[in-house]
Amino acid sequence: MDLLSIDSLTDGQITRILERAVIWFDENRAARGDETLKGRLVFNLFYENSTRTAMSFAAAAHRLGASPVFLPVEQSSIKKGETFDDTARTLNAMRPDCIVIRHRENGAPARLAELAECAVINAGDGTNEHPTQALLDALALQIRFGRIDGLKVAICGDIRHSRVARSNAKLLPRLGAEVRLAGPRSLTPDDVPALSIDEAIQGADVVMMLRVQRERLEEELGDAPGEYLARYGLTVDRLAQAAPEAAIMHPGPINRNVEIADEVADDPERSMILLQVEAGVATRMACLELVTAV
Ligand code: ASP
Repeated sequence: MDLLSIDSLTDGQITRILERAVIWFDENRAARGDETLKGRLVFNLFYENSTRTAMSFAAAAHRLGASPVFLPVEQSSIKKGETFDDTARTLNAMRPDCIVIRHRENGAPARLAELAECAVINAGDGTNEHPTQALLDALALQIRFGRIDGLKVAICGDIRHSRVARSNAKLLPRLGAEVRLAGPRSLTPDDVPALSIDEAIQGADVVMMLRVQRERLEEELGDAPGEYLARYGLTVDRLAQAAPEAAIMHPGPINRNVEIADEVADDPERSMILLQVEAGVATRMACLELVTAV
């Protein structure tokens, strides 16, 4: 099976991924791993930059006994002008068990899934979806709060360009959370109701900040140093409006002191940022198990 979007997953598949991910996460069982996918081949095809997603998919494959292989896109025939479809057919002819793809264009993973006979996992396509990020965020919330049902989650910042926001806005309500989206007007899609960041944060159990995606901005924001943080970023003062024990999330990479102040990002009690990274390996192990199951 392919894992292309949150909507493509049934409730049963989501439950299964999260249950398996909890098992892998508990007692650091992921680090001991097992041989479930021994002999399997996982291709990592990343057309966009990545640290967390690329490395955690590779780590997850290793932990399960599979072999992760990266195509170095910059040195590949893609740079000689090979078309996407030809690259897809070429990789498919090597008979991998799974291809994990990140691409700047919305829908590229779905196109790959049409051409490849193996499982395809979407590791982020343009501004569309990043389903495994939402799944790992759900796992991190489950670990931190012992539940997702009933949590108020404010997702704030560059909503317009965020595939993370889009996937979380689909997944977390299915698990019973209330999601509030807020950002600067120019970075909020037209179909998202205008809510100020201060309104969204009021009483929230979780504040998930999003990176300003300058690589996708058509125009410069034109903000002076510190201006974005003061107007829209998560500062200690702004966080005081959230629930007393509110936790902080960010998918990374962080623009320090742009969307999030250092003291908030590095708060050892409240920041879940590194928990999210750790949960990423366990979650991607569960995803690889599911998609390659015969
Ligand atoms: N790493 C996440 C993504 O690839 C978030 C970000 O880049 O801001 O979508």
